[in-house]
Amino acid sequence: MLGRLVRPALQRCAAARHISTTLLPEDIELLRTTCWDFAEQELKPIAGQIDKEHKYPREQVKMMGELGLMGMVAPEELGGAGMGYLAYAVAMEEISRGCATAGVILSVNNSLYLGPLLSDGNQAQLEKWVSPFLDGEHVGCFCLSEPGNGSDAGAASTTATLRDSGHYELNGAKAWITNGYESEAAVVFATTDKSLKHKGISAFVVPKPHEGISLGKKEDKLGIKGSSTCVINFDNCIIDQENLLGKSGDGFKIAMKTLDAGRIGVAGQALGIAQASLECAVAYAQQRQAFGAPISRMQTIQNKLADMECKIWSARLVNWHAAKLKDDGHNFTKEAAMAKLIASEAATYCAHQAIQVLGGMGYVSDMPAERHYRDARITEIYEGTSEIQRLVIAGNLLKEMIQ
Ligand SMILES: Cc1cc2nc3c(=O)[nH]c(=O)nc-3n(C[C@H](O)[C@H](O)[C@H](O)COP(=O)(O)OP(=O)(O)OC[C@H]3O[C@@H](n4cnc5c(N)ncnc54)[C@H](O)[C@@H]3O)c2cc1C
Repeated sequence: MLGRLVRPALQRCAAARHISTTLLPEDIELLRTTCWDFAEQELKPIAGQIDKEHKYPREQVKMMGELGLMGMVAPEELGGAGMGYLAYAVAMEEISRGCATAGVILSVNNSLYLGPLLSDGNQAQLEKWVSPFLDGEHVGCFCLSEPGNGSDAGAASTTATLRDSGHYELNGAKAWITNGYESEAAVVFATTDKSLKHKGISAFVVPKPHEGISLGKKEDKLGIKGSSTCVINFDNCIIDQENLLGKSGDGFKIAMKTLDAGRIGVAGQALGIAQASLECAVAYAQQRQAFGAPISRMQTIQNKLADMECKIWSARLVNWHAAKLKDDGHNFTKEAAMAKLIASEAATYCAHQAIQVLGGMGYVSDMPAERHYRDARITEIYEGTSEIQRLVIAGNLLKEMIQ
């Protein structure tokens, strides 16, 4: 699988990425070049159009599956790339640099859908729910948030009731579900014992479509418009007991560790958007003339470019560090939260400054800067808002430094 991921890069050494680094192992550097190439050729050309048409990029998602990107974190024996989170962070950045919508579809399948199955699924569940979801034709989704609670995920009110027949019955509504329309399976969190609060939440893998499941309208979003986001309703939805992930009551723990890892992906997405904004600003500044010279000669413009580059590299290094900690089996909760926080704030900053560098051209959809600005904003919200990341960072810091 690794060969499949890096081969295109080897074939196109001549088009090697202009920014290379000695920090990454060779195979991941090659993966980075493969994804960069793919983003240039297949994603950048369609990103503006799918944004305008709110169109799911089915062909491109299939191609990402063929490259092995849709199952990067799944082991090779299940048909995945078996590449780990550093590789995933790098791929997420390069893909999102080309198209942030492709980035979110990639991240939901890898870390939010496959993640909990890989961490808590039994062998039968792995075979049934992981292997068929790696090709880009079949994608999964993750149902944690509800209309009444997002940050406070422990307050889930969707219920899963164990019936005498030995089946679970799901009732309730999950909100903001990415890939809601296209997914053919969902990891769903529901309470099996309300009196236990978050300790009464359990996780299930649920087939879609399925009797008792209905979809709400597609949300009309600010950005990442090519991905579908909707409410998923569960109305006397009957599923087998074998669809329970882990043990009854494990759900909240499963959700939290899934989000820890997912934040590395969102940080990668944010970095891709930030990098795309910077590249757009640099290219424009070099050719736009004002007062008889390219605006790139003006110190005020140079200051903006310098600040953007610094913020991107600071966040990128923290994200690679968080990913490496995860790959090496260390605790990475604080580092992933730090990476997500500073990368998402860097994305918002860079996209904002890029528009400023472009002036009027930054404000119209002839240039990608305004799309980057809209796409960037979500990275500060999903998989834990910036306020929640700060709570996670401070909470872990205080625990680490306890006297
Ligand atoms: C496009 C999109 C895609 C999404 N995809 C998914 C998905 O696939 N699956 C899924 O389950 N969810 C998904 N979400 C939901 C997302 O994770 C939540 O929107 C997010 O966690 C925030 O929850 P909320 O919207 O309910 O805001 P709230 O929790 O209501 O927060 C509102 C404000 O209060 C602040 N706040 C809340 N609690 C605290 C606190 N303790 N301290 C300080 N400030 C606080 C927040 O930071 C925020 O500023 C998606 C959301 C969007 C917009």
